[in-house]
Amino acid sequence: MIKIKGVVTRRSAVFSQLKEIYLECKCGNRIGPLFQNNNSDIKIGTCPVCQSNGPFMIDYDKTIYRNH
Ligand SMILES: [Zn+2]
Repeated sequence: MIKIKGVVTRRSAVFSQLKEIYLECKCGNRIGPLFQNNNSDIKIGTCPVCQSNGPFMIDYDKTIYRNH
């Protein structure tokens, strides 16, 4: 699991936007949710099923953009 420490900022709503990202591996395995805010990269690692390190397709149907 990936943990991102919350950053408290009231400067802009942009910085508090959190993306909940789902990825789909070419083997069909779904990876996620991964959490990303605008300041950090997501670290995906490898698919636990086929050990592939990508590329992964973003599942836009499941990926959620929301503001906190
Ligand atoms: Zn895979």
